[in-house]
Amino acid sequence: MPTLNFTHFSGAVPRYGGYSLEQTDGVLYLVPGTLAVRRYDPFENIDGLLLEVVKAGAVVAGREPFLEYCIAHKMLPLRDVEFWRHGDFFAPRPKEGQPIVDALVAFAGRHGLPIWEGIVTTTYPARYAQRLMALHLDENDDVAYLARYEAARRACQSSGAVPVCTLVLTLLDFYLQWIEGLDGVAFPIRHADWLMAYGQEKTPRLTAQVYDLTTCINLAYALLTAGQGKAVRQCKHCGKFFIAEDRRAEYCSPRCRGAYNSKMTRKRVKERSLREGQ
Ligand SMILES: [Zn+2]
Repeated sequence: MPTLNFTHFSGAVPRYGGYSLEQTDGVLYLVPGTLAVRRYDPFENIDGLLLEVVKAGAVVAGREPFLEYCIAHKMLPLRDVEFWRHGDFFAPRPKEGQPIVDALVAFAGRHGLPIWEGIVTTTYPARYAQRLMALHLDENDDVAYLARYEAARRACQSSGAVPVCTLVLTLLDFYLQWIEGLDGVAFPIRHADWLMAYGQEKTPRLTAQVYDLTTCINLAYALLTAGQGKAVRQCKHCGKFFIAEDRRAEYCSPRCRGAYNSKMTRKRVKERSLREGQ
């Protein structure tokens, strides 16, 4: 078997003129507009893409009403199909869901939507760990919701619409993988055309054109982290997400490092003087 030379991934992800919110059977969807579709290549700006993914994921991870709803319905793991069993969070609660929905609409406008294919699964942010251990799942034999889920998924195949809850779990999963270190070392490469090119070179070239946004994001992250040894990190001082030269980086800038250190020094001095004053 010859060594393959992976030289190139390019994306051809559909991006519409705009995306709107629509409710069907009590579920909120993001639906592509009718304007002509343009394809774009997410690999043109890997850093920018990954930062926007993690920012949108952080909005989901920080949204208590949504996560409380999921945990109250014992969704463990978090699977998009559970919203067909227990009811959608977003359609009946426009106000509580607003910050997440706003982030998703903005994200879709810039990057398009992934293809809704199979059940999307993830878990909760680390701060829920204790409560998850106390959660006992009920046995439930009612599987009628699975048929409703499948019917909804099939209806979306031609329109390109994606349920808000599905997109929310997709983005939350990226956030948890990248920022909280949830294991995610293998992923399927979906909707890609593979091309083998060979000529005078010793190693044939394998190139792929990818049509699915989720696959592009996974590949972009693999190229950045496993390939270049970089990482997506959150600054310990200002909270900003940034692309770090290596995964141990904690601050977005020398300024934030300095500010954090002097904050800690002031805190220690204050604590000491309190102790000595007693
Ligand atoms: Zn910072």
